[in-house]
Amino acid sequence: MADRIEDLIARAAEAVAGAGALLVGAGAGMGVDSGLPDFRGREGFWRAYPAARRLGLDFAELANPRWFRTDPALAWGFYGHRLNLYRETAPHSGFAVLRRWLDRIPAGGFVYTSNVDGQFQRAGFPSSRILECHGAIARLQCLTGCGAGLFEADPRPLAVDPQTLRAAPPLPSCPSCGGLARPNILMFGDLGWDPSETDAQQRRFDAWLRPLGGVPLVVVECGAGTAIPTVRRMCAHVARACGGTLIRINTREPDVPPGQIGLAMGAREALEAIDRRLGPGA
Ligand SMILES: [Zn+2]
Repeated sequence: MADRIEDLIARAAEAVAGAGALLVGAGAGMGVDSGLPDFRGREGFWRAYPAARRLGLDFAELANPRWFRTDPALAWGFYGHRLNLYRETAPHSGFAVLRRWLDRIPAGGFVYTSNVDGQFQRAGFPSSRILECHGAIARLQCLTGCGAGLFEADPRPLAVDPQTLRAAPPLPSCPSCGGLARPNILMFGDLGWDPSETDAQQRRFDAWLRPLGGVPLVVVECGAGTAIPTVRRMCAHVARACGGTLIRINTREPDVPPGQIGLAMGAREALEAIDRRLGPGA
C-alpha cells in the first residue's frame, strides 16, 4: 500500500509540474489541518459546540436563518463564535504550497471553496481568484433586505458566552437602516441569502476558465466530501470537460473516475508530499 501511495504522489507531482492552469477545490476537510472543527455528524458538531448539545440543536438546525428573527443573540452567538475562531486561525502550510504552485503556473489558478472561513484570503490568495459558493462569514447583509447591499463585519471580536452560545449586545447591524445584520452565508432553508457577491465571483471564474481550451488543467480537490457535494461535483465536472487531471485529496472518500488520482490523505500531508516530490525550485 505504501508503494501505491508513493506512485500516486509521483503521478500527482508530474501533473502539477506540467500544469498550465490550476483549479483548487476546497471543502470542510481543508480546514481540519488548521485546527478548525469538523462539523461532520451530530456528535462531531456537538464536540465542537457543547452548548448546542445542551440545546439539542445539530448543525443543520442551528445554521438556519430563522434564529436571526426568533433569537438573534443565539444566532450571533453561533456565527460570532465561528467568525472569531476563523479570524484567530492561521492557515496550515498546505495553503502556502498551493500558492507557490499557482505563482509559477502560466495561466495561474482559481480557488473554488464551499468554506465560509476566509482562510484562502488570509493565506494571501487574491480575492479576485476565489469563488465562495456558500458565501463568507465576514461579509454581512441586512436581515430585512433594506437595499444596503453587502458590507464587511466589524473587525473587533463579538463577545460570545461559550456556555450558552449567546452573543452580548451590540449585535452586528446594518449600516443603512440600523436593523439586525446576518452573515452572507447560504444557510439551510435560506430564502433570504444575497447571492450577488458569489454571482460576481462565478462570472470571474467563468471568464478565467473559458479561454483555457488546450491548456493542461490540473484540479486539486482538498477535503470535499459527498455530504455537501457542490465542490466535489464541480471539480470532477471541470476535469472531465477540460480533459484535465483530477487530484482528489480526501481521507474518507478518495475514490475517483478511472485515470484520475485519489489520495486517501489529509490535505496538508498530501500537498506537502506532492511538493517534496516536485523538489526545490518547482
Ligand atoms: Zn438594512
